[in-house]
Parts: sequence; structure tokens; C-alpha cells
Amino acid sequence: MDTDRRITIVGAGLAGAVLATLLAQRGWGVDVYEKRGDPRVQGYAGGRSINLALAERGRHALRLAGADEAVMRQAVMMRGRMVHFLDGRTDLQRYGRDDSEVIWSVHRGELNVILLDIAQHAGVRLHFHRGLESVDFAARRARFVDPRDGSAHEAQFVSLVGADGAGSALRAAMARQADLGERTEYLGHSYKELEIPPAPDGGFRIEPNALHVWPRGRYMCIALPNDERTFTVTLFLPNAGEPSFASVRSGADARALFARDFADALPLIPDLERDFERNPTGLLATLYLDRWHLAGEAVLLGDAAHAMVPFHGQGMNCAFEDCVALAGHLDAQPDRAAAFAAFQAERLPNARAIQAMALENYLEMRDRVDDDDYLLQRALERALAERHPDRFVPRYSMVTFLRIPYALAFERGRLQRELLVELTRGHASLDTLDWDRVDAAVRERLPPLA
Ligand SMILES: Cc1cc2nc3c(=O)[nH]c(=O)nc-3n(C[C@H](O)[C@H](O)[C@H](O)COP(=O)(O)OP(=O)(O)OC[C@H]3O[C@@H](n4cnc5c(N)ncnc54)[C@H](O)[C@@H]3O)c2cc1C
Repeated sequence: MDTDRRITIVGAGLAGAVLATLLAQRGWGVDVYEKRGDPRVQGYAGGRSINLALAERGRHALRLAGADEAVMRQAVMMRGRMVHFLDGRTDLQRYGRDDSEVIWSVHRGELNVILLDIAQHAGVRLHFHRGLESVDFAARRARFVDPRDGSAHEAQFVSLVGADGAGSALRAAMARQADLGERTEYLGHSYKELEIPPAPDGGFRIEPNALHVWPRGRYMCIALPNDERTFTVTLFLPNAGEPSFASVRSGADARALFARDFADALPLIPDLERDFERNPTGLLATLYLDRWHLAGEAVLLGDAAHAMVPFHGQGMNCAFEDCVALAGHLDAQPDRAAAFAAFQAERLPNARAIQAMALENYLEMRDRVDDDDYLLQRALERALAERHPDRFVPRYSMVTFLRIPYALAFERGRLQRELLVELTRGHASLDTLDWDRVDAAVRERLPPLA
């Protein structure tokens, strides 16, 4: 039996820092090795503002780690999607019932800095400029390289946790020992980040308390607010076809695309050409593994185990939920192999469910938020959520505002979608519905959500 409460985490990004804190607070000896330099010393990579939507699952983990208050001080509330139609009209589609059901835009760099401070305060030993290169699992020795000068550094470990993101070096080392059943499915769409600066008076240029969406069928733009009064805009385009990253190649091409398809956004992005040409194009993919651990020697979590497309804004939230689950299993079960197996059994089906929902949400965001059938189904969804709050909880709310397992939200969401399609078929408005029939169908098909 393993009673040595020491652990080595690879990656001091979002999940690495939270897991380290949760374990250190429980008396574990935690070492974290990070490839990059300390962002608290040298500023965050590239200096660009990149933000993330934080929701209840993530906030729960932050509360447990004692980080929620500090994070929320710099978070910007987003009440719903502000849809920008092609003709310039806008429409705010609320996410929840009121301001208790919202999501929060947080700055990735600031969040990482807060989490590192809290980890260090909890007693975690942080080692920067240490990129994992290889692992000798039999001897339990890991080899790290300092990217600045190529010098090698070895460390003994009891178990390794891979919190080193989608391109995980630990995953590659584990795959040399055993078949992890790894496959990556590329979406065929990529993204580019652009920026809306503050207005001349220092304020926000557009409504700050919303996630802005410009849905255009096969492609879209979104914008999330930052506390420094800027917005990070993300343009999602297919890799091939018209328009795509193959046809929109230069800053001038990007300007022409915006003039045609995102006309109200164009004047908000004065450095469009420069941003488009300077910022990298990011690939989008879903990573599936059948196996997340090697006995008690190593385990993966967060993006290293289940990277997903960003359209539900849940990658980080899910990674934080992983941290809570893994810390719980490690604490409850002294046998590492058993703890890792229990963690995988709990989390893998849920990761698969949110990966699937994230893919579905792309279609919804870029193509459906402005179509009539969808708007009628959304209206019925809101009515049913009011009439049957214990039975009919919109899928977005189950994922975003509750902490029920993702797999359960996925399954209930499927049943609810079937009901919405069925009940609105042949209707142009809710006024013509037979409400007795509607209520009976809900009671029959949806048991109360425990
Ligand atoms: C465009 C986009 C938008 C997104 N928006 C959202 C959102 O709104 N909400 C949300 O919840 N999620 C969002 N996500 C997903 C989110 O970014 C990830 O799920 C989250 O960052 C995963 O955290 P992680 O700690 O597992 O990995 P990461 O945050 O990638 O951290 C990995 C860390 O490991 C380090 N590392 C890498 N290799 C090594 C090595 N060999 N040795 C040592 N260290 C190493 C890295 O430097 C990094 O610090 C988005 C993702 C993208 C691409």
C-alpha cells in the first residue's frame, strides 16, 4: 500500500495549479514542473489578452482551492449571448433566469497568476523552465529540459500527473509504455484572435456584460469582455472553401470579409490587419483516449486527457472538475492505481459527454441562434423551464449552472430536444400549443431532476 503522500505534477497551467493547491491543502507534498517561465516574473506569453468563460463547475473548484474571491475580482459578468445579425440588428439571449445564472469572462494570464500565488502559498514547490522530456517509469525518474539553454534536470517521483495540456509530453511518454487508445479528430475549422480596444473615453465599445456572437452559417465571430475594457474577438472559419483560412489569407482579405459579413464589428477593430497577420491561427480538435493512467505511476487530466473544441466554454471548467475529483480519489484511496482507476471511471464518460456537447454547440452558435425554428424551440424551452423547474432544465443550464454529471446533462438534453421538436412541429408561435398535452408530455418523459 502506498502511504507516501507525495506527487509530481507536470504543467503549471490552469489544472496543474488548481490540483497542486487542493492536494497541498490536504497535507500532500507537491512538486510542479512547468516548461515556461514564471508568468508572475516575466509577464504572460505574448502579452495578448485571451479570455475564458468561467462557469459554476470551475467556480466550485476555485472556491475549494480558496481562489474564487481573487478570480471574481477581475471577472466580467456575461448575462447572455448578444447576437449580431447580418443587417446590424442585435438581440440579447439570456443564458439563465436572472443574474444568478450567468457566466464570467476571466483573463487567462491573470487567472494563471492568481492560481500560482495560491498554490505557492499552500506550500506547493513550483519549478519553472522545466519541460518534461522523457520518463523512466521503472526507475520512477523524469527528465526535464530547460528550454533556455537545453540543460537537463532529473527528478525522482512517486506518481506523475499530466496537466501539460493538449500536446502533453507525459501522454506521449505513457503511450510508449501502453496503448492509450489515442485518437484526435480535427474539426476542419480553425480560429484567429483579434482585439477590440477601449473606446476613446476609456470605456467599453460595446455592451460589456454579454458574450457577443456574429453567427454566419458555416462560420462565426465571438467577442468576450476583459476587465481592462477590451474585448477578445475570435474569428472561427473553415480551413477550406469560401470563406476559409485558405481564401482569407492576408489582413486585407480579413478586412474585406469583415466589411461584407461582420460590418458592425469592423469599426471596432482598428488593428484588424495587424492582428490577423501577427496572431497565430489555432487548430481545433477533440482528443479521445480510452485510458488515462498507467497503473499507479501516471495519470492524465484536463486537456492532456480530453482536449475539446471550445464552443461550450467548458474545457477549463471540466479540467477544474477533474482536479476536484482526482484530489478526492487520491485522498480517499491510499493505493494509487486504485485511485487513478476510480478517477478515470468517474470522469471519462463525463469528458466524452462534454466533448460531444461542445461539438454540437458549434453548429448551434454559428448556425441556429438566428433561425426561426430554433427561436420557437428556445421560447418553449423557457416556458417549460418556468412551468416545470424540477423537470425541465435547459441543457445549457445543466452544463453551465449546475454540477450534475455532464453525461446526465447530455442524456436529459437529448430527451428534452426531442420533446421541443415534437411539441413545436407545425406551430409558428407558442399561442397555438395545447398546454395540457405539453404538460402531460413533460411529466411522462422527464422524471424530476434529483
Ligand atoms: C480558443 C479557445 C477558447 C477557449 N475558451 C474556453 C472557455 O471559454 N471556457 C473554458 O472553460 N475553456 C475554454 N477553453 C479551453 C481551455 O483553454 C482548456 O481546456 C484549459 O486551458 C485546459 O487546462 P489545462 O491545465 O489542462 O491545460 P493548459 O491550460 O494548456 O496548461 C498546460 C500547461 O502545461 C505546460 N506544459 C506543456 N508542455 C509541458 C511540458 N512538456 N513540461 C512541462 N510543462 C508543460 C504549459 O506551458 C501550460 O502551462 C478554450 C480553448 C481554446 C483553444
